[in-house]
Amino acid sequence: MALESKKNYGISTTSVHGGEAHQKALDSITDPIVMASTYTFSDTQSVIDYIEQKQKRGEYGRYGNPNEAVVERKLAALEGGEDAVLFSSGMSAIVGVIMSKLSAGDEVVFFDECYHRSREFCSKHMSRFGVVTRQVEACNYEAMEAAITPNTKLLVSESPTNPHLSVVDLNRFAEIGRRNNVETLIDATLATPYNVKPLDFGVDYVLHSATKYLAGHNDLLAGVIVGRESKLSDIRYLRGILGSINSAHNCYLLQRGLKTFDVRMQRHNANGQAVAEFLESHARVSKVYYPGLASHDYHEIAARQMRGYGGLITFELADADWRETANVVDRCQIPKIGPSLGGVESLIEQPLVMSYYELPEDERLSYGIRDNMIRMAIGIEDTDDIILDLKQALEG
Ligand SMILES: *Cc1c(COP(=O)(O)O)cnc(C)c1O
Repeated sequence: MALESKKNYGISTTSVHGGEAHQKALDSITDPIVMASTYTFSDTQSVIDYIEQKQKRGEYGRYGNPNEAVVERKLAALEGGEDAVLFSSGMSAIVGVIMSKLSAGDEVVFFDECYHRSREFCSKHMSRFGVVTRQVEACNYEAMEAAITPNTKLLVSESPTNPHLSVVDLNRFAEIGRRNNVETLIDATLATPYNVKPLDFGVDYVLHSATKYLAGHNDLLAGVIVGRESKLSDIRYLRGILGSINSAHNCYLLQRGLKTFDVRMQRHNANGQAVAEFLESHARVSKVYYPGLASHDYHEIAARQMRGYGGLITFELADADWRETANVVDRCQIPKIGPSLGGVESLIEQPLVMSYYELPEDERLSYGIRDNMIRMAIGIEDTDDIILDLKQALEG
């Protein structure tokens, strides 16, 4: 029997045991990795029973695999949702939801601080299929409500946003959706279910790039969408057509990564807070974006709705051009230069170079990506080592 159906266990017990059978195949303590592209039937009646949904089992690998089923149950349990659909990346999860839920003439409203590929997919690609994307200023609830038309099908936001760490008031966001009969989606990749569970606030869908904190080891790509089973069934069906599924081995790695989710998040939260406080106190730093700081624009709402603030910190240097900013990045010895976040290894990057290099300057600045900006994804290394390294990089 799956653990979560018996009792409401804590987040660490759920990370370790959630979604897993108590006694597994071959008496193995871990779930065996099932390397099968197809699943066989003992006779024709079994095929008919499967088609008539009298029997839950595997059919063909593009529609799912046993390792995926376990990790989906674990993720649904962690998020407090009925069901979870796993995708081969966070982006394929976003594509899966948008393509399932919107048709030509429908509209989606985004808060404008968002993962740049999500924005690009909607504005450049869904537009080719007649779906209209409206963007409004992040956390401007009046603007979001004003952008809703009779054709609006979905409201989308991240919380916290990347890279400015703005925090959406989830009660208000969900309420706008309910009042206007429009579904709501929160990309909570930066928060994780350790720090906030958007479904508890009445949001319809929570989405994660599981590549980040959920997997946690910078060694795989995956995405997940969690919500009510009745709302996810068409998304799961479309995924079977799109084919954006994870291999059994990838699912196993995600399941393994999730075992330490609780202890990793405690460390990410503690390191994030300590490093943010250090940066804020440093003379070379002019601004720090981190929801755990009292100076952050969204600290109050973050403190009310989140348990901790994660490991992502964005900061700006005082009187530095892009080259001097790059020099600080280059002097760091512990964090490696790279995109992504949420893994045990700390990463650092200059958003101007890493994600926005090819964008015209005025468009980049309109997204608040300045030349002197650095984004750091704090890993689980020792706090003092990270701070000492940043200190030498800032003062070098
Ligand atoms: C990384 C990321 C994505 C995309 O996820 P992939 O797994 O890289 O496809 C989407 N949203 C946020 C907030 C992210 O950080």
